[in-house]
Order: sequence, then C-alpha cells, then structure tokens
Amino acid sequence: MTNLTSLAAEIIDGSIEVIDLTSPLHSGTPILQLPPMWGQTQTFQLEEISRYDDRGPAWYWNNFRTGEHTGTHLDAPNHWVTGKDRGDVSQIPPHRLIGPAVVIDRLAESTDDPDYLLDVADLEDWQRRHGPLPKAGWLLFRTGWSDRGDDPERYANADDQGSHTPGMTHAAAMYLAATDLLGVGVETVGTDAGQAFGFEPPFPCHQAILGAGKYGLTQLRNLEKLPVTGAVLIAAPLPIVSGSGSPARVLALVSK
Ligand code: MN
Repeated sequence: MTNLTSLAAEIIDGSIEVIDLTSPLHSGTPILQLPPMWGQTQTFQLEEISRYDDRGPAWYWNNFRTGEHTGTHLDAPNHWVTGKDRGDVSQIPPHRLIGPAVVIDRLAESTDDPDYLLDVADLEDWQRRHGPLPKAGWLLFRTGWSDRGDDPERYANADDQGSHTPGMTHAAAMYLAATDLLGVGVETVGTDAGQAFGFEPPFPCHQAILGAGKYGLTQLRNLEKLPVTGAVLIAAPLPIVSGSGSPARVLALVSK
C-alpha cells in the first residue's frame, strides 16, 4: 500500500480520527467588535432564495452575507498593513493549507486570568519538553475559550475597558514570527488578546505574524481532543480573490 492508500484506509476504519476544529456558522456566531470610530464587520446572515416552494419547487438554497473574519476563519498576510504585499487569501499555496499542528495548553492560566498573555518563556519551556516547533506547521493556543463560543457576551467578556480574552505578548509574537511555523491558531475571536488594541504596538500578533507572511486561525474548537504533538491540520479557506481572509473549515487528523 502507498502512504495515501493507507491514510485513506485508516480514516475509513477510524484508526485515524478526523476532528472538526470549526465553529458552526450562523447569525449568532460571535464577531469581533472594534471601538466605534472604526469600520465594523458583520454577522453571518442567510437569505433564503427558495425552499421547495413557488420560488423553486424542487430545491432549497440561500444567499449568505458575512464578514471575511466571521467564525472560524483564516487571516491572510494582507489582512495587516505589515503584510499588505505578502499575498491575499486566494494566493496561499495549497500545500501551505496542510501541516503538522502542536498544542500549547494554557487552559488553567486563561481560566484564572482572562487577560493571560503567552510569553517567550512559555514557548521556550514548551520546546524543552516537546521538541522544536514544527516546520511549516501550526502552533495552536489552547485557552478553553471555545467553551464560551455559543454565548457572544461571555465570549467577548467585555467591560468598560473592552474585551478581556487571552493572547500573547509582543515579544512572543516576534519570536513566533521568526520561526518556520505556518501560523498561529487560537480559540478566541482573533489571534490577539482582547486588550491588544492598547498594547505597544497595538495588535502585536497580527503585526508580527502576518507581517512575516504567516497566517492566523481563529475561533477553533475541540483543541482538547488533540495531542500535544502529532496531529495534522487541514485549513480550507475560500479563495476570495483579493480577500484578506475567509471563513474556513479546519480539520485535524489524529492517530488513535
Ligand atoms: Mn481575522
């Protein structure tokens, strides 16, 4: 058997499990809220065209309207000014949409402190325990935030200072930008912390990661079902020409 034949056989017989890391898309899917002076993204909306009725007797279909950055989605490099010449979402080479994934678990810290920030020491400590970060792979940041994903208010966790959700320091973002990773995946609404609009520089993960031609993946679920190392991640954004990102189906292959 070739590797691909055995891969297919192991998916069919369940010895490789396919785990869906995608949040469901509907009108209640949480979206990022920026301060009011800036443009706002929109929620996902379905508009029915016909449903086995006089508008189309045998068929059901919808139009939909959504922001590019709604639900589980991929941030392309051109989403940020630092990556504006590094390509849109349709230009990502397809082989860069599949790669190894590792998980850094900061569930306890993020539960304790919603403003928890991953720092360089965490990344170095992880590598001492588990080996180098995977070349052309993903670092997935587990915070437990996806447990709040069906409740936009708890998910945003906002007070009069804005949203309080975990993220990373500027130093950690710079550190990761200098690696061979494809990008960073998170459970929160964006790859930066809720308070990152006030960081110096603002939104350091977007600035560093996208500026380095890497990608972001957000609103991931089921990270607790992944091993620390050894999963393979498939991220499938739509090839929106000139787009800055796209809702994506994100799957992980895990050997049982
Ligand atoms: Mn985004």
